Amino acid sequence: MTSAVVVGGGPNGLAAAALLAVEGIEVTLLEAADEVGGGTRSWEGIVPGLLHDHCSAFHPMAVGSPAFARLRLSSYGLRWRQPDLDCAHVLDGGTAAALHTDVDATANGLGVDGPTWRRLFAGPAARYDTLAEDILGPLLRLPRHPLLLSRFGVPALAPAAGLARLFRTEAARALWSGVAAHAFTPLTRPLSSAIGLGILTAGHRHGWAVAEGGSRAIAQALAACLTQHGGRIETGVRVRHAADLPPADVTLFDLDPGQVAGILGDRLPARVARAYRGFRRGPGAYKVDFAVAGGVPWTAEAARRAGTVHVGGTSAEVVAAERDVARGRLPERPFVLVGQQYLADPGRSVGDTHPVWAYAHVPHGYAGDATAALIGQIERFAPGFRERIVGMRVTGPADFAGWNPNFAGGDIMTGAKDIRQLVFGPRAAGDPYATGIPGVYLCSAATPPGPGAHGMCGAHAARHALAYLQRAGRR
Ligand SMILES: Cc1cc2nc3c(=O)[nH]c(=O)nc-3n(C[C@H](O)[C@H](O)[C@H](O)COP(=O)(O)OP(=O)(O)OC[C@H]3O[C@@H](n4cnc5c(N)ncnc54)[C@H](O)[C@@H]3O)c2cc1C
Repeated sequence: MTSAVVVGGGPNGLAAAALLAVEGIEVTLLEAADEVGGGTRSWEGIVPGLLHDHCSAFHPMAVGSPAFARLRLSSYGLRWRQPDLDCAHVLDGGTAAALHTDVDATANGLGVDGPTWRRLFAGPAARYDTLAEDILGPLLRLPRHPLLLSRFGVPALAPAAGLARLFRTEAARALWSGVAAHAFTPLTRPLSSAIGLGILTAGHRHGWAVAEGGSRAIAQALAACLTQHGGRIETGVRVRHAADLPPADVTLFDLDPGQVAGILGDRLPARVARAYRGFRRGPGAYKVDFAVAGGVPWTAEAARRAGTVHVGGTSAEVVAAERDVARGRLPERPFVLVGQQYLADPGRSVGDTHPVWAYAHVPHGYAGDATAALIGQIERFAPGFRERIVGMRVTGPADFAGWNPNFAGGDIMTGAKDIRQLVFGPRAAGDPYATGIPGVYLCSAATPPGPGAHGMCGAHAARHALAYLQRAGRR
């Protein structure tokens, strides 16, 4: 029987493994941790019964993921839940800009900037399910829907700070800049709009959904699909050398390129090894999970209903904070993302004590203590927050790297999303998944379409592996 080994059980490794198993391949997945999931895991700990997401929380791209649709994850227990409001960007003075799933509802709340918001997002969001085939894949290939893609793609080329100038109100500028900041890159750079536009377009189609029962439900559904199709999962197995790999017809790595270079050593063509070793990492995340009595007392009413709250002040402040982080400085007021998943999925709370997820953008490998700066930012828009904290747990850049080398230096994007890596992935080559060794592929978020718990990097790599098997006469 034709066989495959997948190293790493994040959403991409699991999706690749499940898609290969569905095709009748005998799949073994090796995972270093004692459970699969990578960036889609959840835990209880601060208060018994209170459920926190380790990493991914909101999933506009996962809901509409063609890979997850093909695997029919709902039949393996995955249920999406939508918050009342997708996102709020809080501003001084107790106001907030509100992002609804519905483009018109969002535009109506943005006053004179409503028509611009509608112009940017209404068309692409309405046709998102068609557009997804193009934007959730490598940028360098012939698009299936060139006209539609060009409507999305032209604004994506612009620096996010430039696109912000299309808006006249601070509310619209800040709302856009907060979403654009998910790119973890200076917002004055060309292409820094691409990730924000992708998130907003997907969100206006599918909402910023959370997985019922925690993001671990995504991994559990993928793992159930894999095992139901005969796949095997071995946890607690860290692959360090090529000799650790069982023989297989194809091998896929859900790992960062640097680690793959270390594992495969001189089996890799020299130019590929050079590119993988030179893979650039992005800034870091400094995360604090809180147990909060009564929830966060946001001054702005919209923020009390929003699944995600962007905490960074004005657009200019967000731009300055992202620039500082890229230059290796912790801003006095960092950009902070706050997750209130329990609003959509109340089973995560215990009575009136709620799990609140938050992380600040910090420099790569930041070794200091950003807890006070992070809490200070929330307190700025929610006075009295500090007094409501029942317990908390800090995960700094070194902690992220310690449990998952894909997040080295706290880089939760699995690589800097600068122009070169956004366009080409880990190396400038026609096939970003190929390692140069026949039958061996990279399938992690270091490859297009990049970070997020959508499984599409895994799906593309699995497609390449299947094509290879066909050419090799193994299918
Ligand atoms: C704090 C945080 C917040 C985030 N928020 C969101 C969000 O809201 N929405 C969203 O869509 N995405 C979010 N993400 C990003 C998302 O989690 C990642 O992009 C996604 O998990 C990447 O998936 P992956 O399969 O490529 O790799 P990973 O999830 O990194 O999984 C890789 C797996 O490989 C294993 N592994 C590593 N080395 C080895 C080895 N040598 N041998 C065997 N196994 C190994 C690891 O243990 C891990 O399980 C967030 C991430 C973080 C950390």
